[in-house]
Formats: sequence, C-alpha cells, structure tokens
Amino acid sequence: MPGFPREPMSEKVELARRVVLSLADEGRIELWGGQSPEGPLERLSETQAERLKIDEAPWHDPETTTLKVKIVSPAVYENPSGVAFGCDYCADYQNRNFGHVTQIGWNERRRMILIRCPRCGAMYENTPEEEDLTRRLDETEARNLYPDTFRTR
Ligand SMILES: [Zn+2]
Repeated sequence: MPGFPREPMSEKVELARRVVLSLADEGRIELWGGQSPEGPLERLSETQAERLKIDEAPWHDPETTTLKVKIVSPAVYENPSGVAFGCDYCADYQNRNFGHVTQIGWNERRRMILIRCPRCGAMYENTPEEEDLTRRLDETEARNLYPDTFRTR
C-alpha cells in the first residue's frame, strides 16, 4: 500500500481488524480471550465474537477494554493422537486444558496432574500446563501413580 507508514492509525487498525475477522471467519485462526491477560483463556463465546465486530474498544483501546483477545493457531489445540477418550466432553481440548475437568491429583515427581471427567468419570494424566500430553489411565494405573488421591482418611 503506497504511503502506508503515513496512514492514520485508525485506518491501520481498521485494516488489521478486517484481516483478523476474515481469517477467523475462515477458521484459519481462533480468537480466544479472557478478562485479564494472565487469566484463563477460552474460545470467545458467540456474544463476545459478535461484540468484536461492532465494539471499537478492543481494537482501538486495548488497555482499557475488559475483553482481552488472543489470536491462536488452530493447530495448538489438537488432541494428542491415540487417546481413547471417555466421552465427547473430555475429548474436547478446551474442556480438558482450561479447567473444565476436575483435577484430583498431582504427582510432584512426575510433574503431572490427574484429572477426571465430570461427565463420564474417565481419568487422565496430563501436564499441568505446557504441552498437552493427555494419557488415559485406568483405575489401577491411576491408583499406582496417584496413591494420595485414593488414600482413605
Ligand atoms: Zn468424559
């Protein structure tokens, strides 16, 4: 675009906005957000995504808006292959990795957490953050690796 560096900031922001929204419409990027930059991220709800199309603040005044948005590549939330998930709920990457399943154990030495699906009861071991290394555990494995969780008081 000729003269691009001298275009008014508002036009640059508008251009970026159109690009981001059209990439999101095509499913080539995902827009995730949260109430603060450090808080948990979730895929934007329908309402939030609509707001992004009409509300100026998230685009022009990111310091003050309550809607913080992060552009995420769809590839980052693919499930590890070969995991036999218990149900559709726990098979959902977002449910598993963003606090929608119950953490019932923590193994200091392995630096792994034990999680249980609130819908079907399937248990998995995973990293607390970082890369998703979800592995389904049967009851015996879970008891062996996370004895504290199953200790009766
Ligand atoms: Zn489940």
